[in-house]
Amino acid sequence: MTNIEKLKAAMPEEKYCALITSDVNRRYFSGMKSSAGTVLVFPEGAYLLIDFRYYEKASSLVSACEVILQKKYYEQINDLLKKHKTDKVYIEADTMTVAELNAHKDKLENVQIKSDGFLSKVVSKLRSVKTADELEKMQKAQDIAEEALDYVMQNVIKEGASELEVGRALDFYMLSHGAECVSFDTIALSGANTSLPHGVPSDKRIKKGEFVLMDFGAVYEGYHSDMTRTVCVGEPSAEMKEIYGIVLEAQQRCLDFVKAGVVCRELDACARDFIAEKGFGENFGHGLGHSVGLEIHESPAANTRDTAVLEENMIMTVEPGIYLPGRFGVRIEDCISVTKDGYNNFAHSPKNLIIL
Ligand code: ZN
Ligand code: ZN
Repeated sequence: MTNIEKLKAAMPEEKYCALITSDVNRRYFSGMKSSAGTVLVFPEGAYLLIDFRYYEKASSLVSACEVILQKKYYEQINDLLKKHKTDKVYIEADTMTVAELNAHKDKLENVQIKSDGFLSKVVSKLRSVKTADELEKMQKAQDIAEEALDYVMQNVIKEGASELEVGRALDFYMLSHGAECVSFDTIALSGANTSLPHGVPSDKRIKKGEFVLMDFGAVYEGYHSDMTRTVCVGEPSAEMKEIYGIVLEAQQRCLDFVKAGVVCRELDACARDFIAEKGFGENFGHGLGHSVGLEIHESPAANTRDTAVLEENMIMTVEPGIYLPGRFGVRIEDCISVTKDGYNNFAHSPKNLIIL
């Protein structure tokens, strides 16, 4: 089943047009990356309306729908709506701007525009369950990131190296070893900066006895990886070891608990309750994890609110952390795919406390 066929199966039984305008979902349905274009899905057919810059490539690459050269955007869409006798147009409420919505209301003739978020929800649900092909790409993205981690642990992380040097080295390694881009701005922090969950790398130099926290990922054929490792340069203090041990155990408890059927917020609670029991509840201020795929943050999420039930081949990061302001922080993050009885871990990098 193509992704367009999956969408058709998930739409209500009526005459409709699903208008896919976001870059990421256009890629998901057409199979081609572009910065413009519209996928139109009707019960009886589907089209990619795309301009001259992409038309030639789309004509040879896209097989999931009919490719049409975009000339007069609204005229062409109105013609297709007439051809398919449709007066109901679903738009992506999560991503369409108000200006675009106003233009659609103004230019699309005799249609009811469904902007209640239904289409965004349906697509997000489809994307949350990965195919074997998607899982393979995610594994490849993870493998590139892990190679980069090995490289910087052996060659870059040492006393005197700056956070920026570590971050840049991770990025450069991933980009020169198959990554199409990096998953997000790489986080590489040391010492007291590690207590900032989303800190930005600076020219601060690593000192002996400091943690180095790296949160990073590679993108391979559109699919993202996401991992965090915290290592120590020189001997950690007893307290650093203790905190590291608690975070690692919190993560292991979640991994032991996760499988198809588990409710997302219960997975979050698995780490949160344990960390609170150890006295650090106030120091774990973010959600346990999130799904990953064509975007770095996808639905569902493991946090205190999400009541989604995990299904086979859904993705979740498991990233508990403890942050002691002004002193240090530890986060350990793996990205997994959910299976019937447990999980497959994309990550294979060791998680015992590594002392460099
Ligand atoms: Zn991360
Ligand atoms: Zn993450």
